[in-house]
Amino acid sequence: MVESDHTKRYRTRMQRKKEVIDEAIARADREQGLLLILTGNGKGKSSSAFGMLARALGHGMRVGVAQFIKGRSDTGEEAFFSKQDNVIWHVLGEGFTWDTQNLERDTETAQRGWVIVQKMLCDSSINLIVLDEFTYPLKFGWLDIATVLNDLRNRPSMQHVVITGRAAPDALCEMADTVTEMADVKHAFRAGIQAQKGIDL
Ligand code: ATP
Ligand code: MG
Repeated sequence: MVESDHTKRYRTRMQRKKEVIDEAIARADREQGLLLILTGNGKGKSSSAFGMLARALGHGMRVGVAQFIKGRSDTGEEAFFSKQDNVIWHVLGEGFTWDTQNLERDTETAQRGWVIVQKMLCDSSINLIVLDEFTYPLKFGWLDIATVLNDLRNRPSMQHVVITGRAAPDALCEMADTVTEMADVKHAFRAGIQAQKGIDL
């Protein structure tokens, strides 16, 4: 069968694309524990982090989660993941409700939480750590950013850390290997729809 010009052009284009991609793949030849930041005002930060948690567990890896949440709510991810083998799950944010309005108490709670995270950051048997909503303790000054960056920098070299939350500080993003900003194009909540189980919590 005679090939049309269109088919030939398509094949040449795809071959070139494949060469470029293969070269890029060959250049990325290092293995390393990654620091990932999922920030921005759009939905998808925590759910993306828990997607990576599922991937890691699928590979038989050990994972740790610390949730620095504002108010306590029963989430599907906690109900599901905390029951699995190879998962260490800490909820560290019970004191961070907006109505405590008590800087001293919020600072103490965050610092107690960071001590628990520090232990995970020293444990090379934990392959992936999710610090969910962790940008808030930094943003409100409950934790010293220099200490946090230092502890992150000194973690085991193959340990991955994923941090979620709005308004990630610049210094944290500079240190990170992968930074994603979720853009808020549209959200159902603004149309008067409540948070839905399985989608929002
Ligand atoms: P998710 O957990 O769904 O991935 P998220 O971690 O990106 O969301 P958070 O800022 O932690 O977002 O907010 C958590 C809750 O607020 C979720 O129920 C989420 O659907 C909702 N939410 C996220 N972004 C928005 C938004 N732009 N407007 C209103 N509600 C939002
Ligand atoms: Mg979140």
